[in-house]
Amino acid sequence: MRESAPRGLQTPDVLLPDGWAPNVAIYWDESGLISEIRLSHTDPELPLAQGPVVPGMVNAHSHAFQRSIVGRTHSFTSPTDDFWSWREVMYDHLSTIDPDRLEQIASELYLDMTRSGYTSVCEFHYVHCDPDGNLYSDPDAMSVAILNAAEKAGIGLTLLPVFYEFGGFGEKDLENHQNRFVLSLGDYCDLITRLLDRTRDNPGIEIGYAPHSLRAVNARGIHQLLDHRSQHAPSAPFHIHVAEQIREVEECTAVLGKRPIEYLFDKVAIDEHWCLVHATHASSEELALIAASGATVCLCPTTEADLGDGVFSLSSYLELGGTIAIGSDSNICVSPFEEIRLLDYVQRLRLQKRNVEGITSSIGAGTRRYLQSLFGGSQVTGRPVGHIKEGFSADLLELDAHHSQLSGKSSDEQLNTLIYSGDSSALAAVIIRGETK
Ligand SMILES: [Zn+2]
Repeated sequence: MRESAPRGLQTPDVLLPDGWAPNVAIYWDESGLISEIRLSHTDPELPLAQGPVVPGMVNAHSHAFQRSIVGRTHSFTSPTDDFWSWREVMYDHLSTIDPDRLEQIASELYLDMTRSGYTSVCEFHYVHCDPDGNLYSDPDAMSVAILNAAEKAGIGLTLLPVFYEFGGFGEKDLENHQNRFVLSLGDYCDLITRLLDRTRDNPGIEIGYAPHSLRAVNARGIHQLLDHRSQHAPSAPFHIHVAEQIREVEECTAVLGKRPIEYLFDKVAIDEHWCLVHATHASSEELALIAASGATVCLCPTTEADLGDGVFSLSSYLELGGTIAIGSDSNICVSPFEEIRLLDYVQRLRLQKRNVEGITSSIGAGTRRYLQSLFGGSQVTGRPVGHIKEGFSADLLELDAHHSQLSGKSSDEQLNTLIYSGDSSALAAVIIRGETK
């Protein structure tokens, strides 16, 4: 009997965690995990990539349903329109969201993500209840909508059901619409337990925990979630929004006596399983705390720009050895290349210099940001993704070396062209768990 051809890809150049390597054969097994990487090796049995191959990007922060308000929040109705008035519009739009609609929006969104170069997404999922704040007849209906959408699109998923208790710092009462986000601690833990059972044998899905923010959850609530994790999923990731807006920092300081990141580190042992989403207004002391903990800061450049959040002190944080990931957050943009482009450009504008980190390197600045974003993204998914490495998911992007913008350039120049000037039309193929999308 003839042996079947090996599963894999022959690459002219591949971006490994420590940089480019030429002429690499990548093999994967039937479950889509990379089984072997042969350097300086040509295997004529493997299909040949149409250009350099890089890991698919991890989208470390998404609220799928917000995709449906893109373009509907840009007509200002007050001179003081801001993040908080945007949030009101977003909340009002929730009335249109039920499990079927959520599945439809998320399916289309996740497909757009895979076409654009994201191969995994962390869904920070906080709309659990019906418009009256009651559980649906199937209490898992909204989470299942997200699971179904990821399955349809073929994207890897870290589903992060959100725990939400209060309307603001100091255990404030809930505001209008926020009742859709609230589950009792018992209902929340039961949901997590059922989702863990349901997805245990699915290599494409991980379940994690997400206390929404210090606005919405107190320290006791975070510890209750950590207790559940220690019993049911000890290595599951933990994601939280923090320090996105100045007003949030001021309210936290006024009510809890400390800045939010300072308070979080004071109350909770933060480690590399944690993803601090935004951290926009971290002080230099807070940046040092995060960097020393091994936690990841998830930056969402296009959303943070759209909402007028502010600018994260990236160069100081990287100097401290800090870890970053990128996220599409409100999903106003689903291109990882545009996120990295804006991330880097805003820092150049802020510092009035091109070499943000003041580092010389044989790889371009875009490639550096790409690798940095993969490192943190890999860490916060709880899944073996984000690196071209044995045992990791074969999530790969094939650049189109014949594309008009890329032809005649080195592999590193091609990736930097894509990041600073291109779009997903310069991708020849997107492969997720060994399957070409
Ligand atoms: Zn968010």
